[in-house]
Amino acid sequence: MAIAALPRFRTQAFIDGRFIDAASGETFETENPATGEVIARVAAGGVEDIDRAVKAARRAFDDGRWSNQSPAERKRTLLRLADLVEANAEELATLDSLEAGKPISDNRGGDLPESVRTIRWFAEAADKVFDAVAPTGPDALGLIVREPVGVVGAVVPWNFPLLMAIWKIAPALAAGNTMVVKPSRLTSLSAIRLAELAAEAGLPQGVLNVVPGPGGTAGQALGRHMDVDKVTFTGSTEVGRQFLNYAAESNLKEVTLELGGKSPQLVLADARDLDLDVVAERVLFAAFMNQGQNCSCGSRLIVDRSVQEALVERLVEHLPEWIVGDPLQPDTKIGPMIERPHLDKVMGYIERGRAEGARVVVGGERVLEESGGHFVAPTIFDDATNSMTIAREEIFGPVLTTIPFDSEDDAIRLANETSYGLAASVYTKDLDTAFRVARALRVGVVGVNNYSEGDVFTPFGGFKQSGFGGRDKGLEALEQYTEKKTIWVTLG
Ligand code: NAP
Ligand code: MG
Repeated sequence: MAIAALPRFRTQAFIDGRFIDAASGETFETENPATGEVIARVAAGGVEDIDRAVKAARRAFDDGRWSNQSPAERKRTLLRLADLVEANAEELATLDSLEAGKPISDNRGGDLPESVRTIRWFAEAADKVFDAVAPTGPDALGLIVREPVGVVGAVVPWNFPLLMAIWKIAPALAAGNTMVVKPSRLTSLSAIRLAELAAEAGLPQGVLNVVPGPGGTAGQALGRHMDVDKVTFTGSTEVGRQFLNYAAESNLKEVTLELGGKSPQLVLADARDLDLDVVAERVLFAAFMNQGQNCSCGSRLIVDRSVQEALVERLVEHLPEWIVGDPLQPDTKIGPMIERPHLDKVMGYIERGRAEGARVVVGGERVLEESGGHFVAPTIFDDATNSMTIAREEIFGPVLTTIPFDSEDDAIRLANETSYGLAASVYTKDLDTAFRVARALRVGVVGVNNYSEGDVFTPFGGFKQSGFGGRDKGLEALEQYTEKKTIWVTLG
């Protein structure tokens, strides 16, 4: 789609069913990271705007305009929203591509269909999940019922702007909560447009509020608000930690955190009996999808020394399939880094990798500088060790670090030797080995002979410092947006 064909961008906050400027009147610029050009100015929500949105969400929750609807009615509204997201998929895909630099084909083929599926799946779950009856004697009836938590704040990142918002919004609304969503200041446009579509779908006013604004002010205000019952967050481990402080220092709101990762891809000796071209393609996908700006990015390739050389050769052969370029071009597979400071951070890690003695096999430099965008060539390091900075810290860029090992025990030890625990892959021909290794890995999701985050119906989240307090997706997500209540009846 030509950009000129897009409607005017919605750039205000959406509070209590209408668009409104920030109370301060201030705005901030949002940039196209592929060109460095300013796309739009967005309302800079702050403490007052968050408070206004929380009050609207509280009123909407307390009068039951959404929470007291029957689950089947909520389902119908959410299914209409899914239809509207589908009908406007091209526009939403383009917004995320423009603002986040995400390849348009990824958005068309991945983020948008997954967004629609997520809304539909949670909508359908709304009237299909039952509560429980306790095992009492004949003189009592014990009910365990789920109720919505109340006002839910969601603070989401820029790497999958629409999809991460929907991973929170779909289950929270299906469970009957009301919400205030704070997108990343780098990518506000698709979430704002989503709020408008939700209103069009018939979601009552005040149920879904979107307040754009900087994390340090608007995000913090949501985290510290005394009338927010729960915060769900996706982003860095560092900021996630802050949300626990905010909760402790305010009203002990519930907190769910989906954080960073340093996910291993284990290639065992008998992987040589698999099709190594297929393995190489999947390893590259895990490492370079979304420019490596992916919390479950398979950034550590932990490979048996006996297949290391053959596999690295195949990786290099397949690398040209990863075309770096304008995210709006359909054949582009790697867009720019989200912003200049992030580009500098990624380049800093590459320098550090070289300085600490890892070998750059391919890449390692900025490209397409003339575009004004923040592009990095996909980079493969070989002969690294797990103690190097590039093997320990989340780079969040297209950088794959190869670490050889000599035994299966070694491989598991190296894979688990990290403060993170989000995802992992294991490549092996042998099913027993696959299960043994999958069970030994301290992570939330393991792909066997693939790179996978499961599906909308399987829980997603991390062990260790990759997460806290719950999971996105699956019935686990629905569950975490509810409180459990026991109702005990004495029978006469
Ligand atoms: P981030 O800096 O932690 O930001 C995430 C969100 O928090 C943004 O909306 C941000 O707003 C806000 N924020 C920033 N500082 C804040 C503060 N002091 N108080 C309250 N809110 C604050 O992370 P990011 O750089 O956007 O995203 C990259 C990170 O997300 C990576 O570490 C990645 O691993 C992680 N991630 C995890 C998952 C998962 O499911 N586990 C999924 C995707 C990404 P501003 O942008 O406006 O500052
Ligand atoms: Mg940030």
